[in-house]
Amino acid sequence: MASPSSSTDNNNEINKCRLQFYKEISSYKNNSSNNPLFSTERYDQTIESIVNAKLKTPGGRNTQEMHFLKTYDVIDFGGKLKLTKKDDEFSDGIIKYFVQLDELYDVIKEAHVLIGHRGIANTLKELKKRFVNITEKQVTLFISGCEECKRKRSMPKNSSKLAIKPVISNDFNARVQVDLVDMQSCPDGPFKFIMNYQDHFTKFCILRPLKTKTAAEVAYQLLDLSCTS
Ligand SMILES: [Zn+2]
Repeated sequence: MASPSSSTDNNNEINKCRLQFYKEISSYKNNSSNNPLFSTERYDQTIESIVNAKLKTPGGRNTQEMHFLKTYDVIDFGGKLKLTKKDDEFSDGIIKYFVQLDELYDVIKEAHVLIGHRGIANTLKELKKRFVNITEKQVTLFISGCEECKRKRSMPKNSSKLAIKPVISNDFNARVQVDLVDMQSCPDGPFKFIMNYQDHFTKFCILRPLKTKTAAEVAYQLLDLSCTS
């Protein structure tokens, strides 16, 4: 179980990510009607306009109200009114919601975690099943700040494959391994090292006594072995 201090650290980390996300999002706000962002104010105003427009006769609606009724719908979700996309021939009866800015971070996070921190395209695909106004840019921004994904990105690629990839030799004497055994504490006369020369393919070993471990002496033995074996 996480200690109270580590869960506080974790909460601080999440709050930091959320703040950074909203800071970036607000930097590319625009005021056009295509703006995918719904501030709480815009969200509530849109719902109010639609509810009012529905109460009017078609002739009594203004241009904006007619546009809203073509684009949006409002449903009662457990006593709370939610803004949804107007049902059309492409929606197959599936209700898709507009997300308001305050909920954007949590909505993207929920979908991203649900599919196991997969990439931008998969997260966006998951979100598009239920939501209308979430953009690739927003998902990209969220994932660029996701701590779990950052950790995964910092791990070397294919590290597991590198660790288990075996060295394969196809023939006797194609590859050998050489090791020295240090016998200085119990020398045999002038000989203080044992050179272990092992063929990689057959694992056949040849041992040679060495007086020193100088390059010259090792090279002399290697040359002798590779010419005779
Ligand atoms: Zn992630």
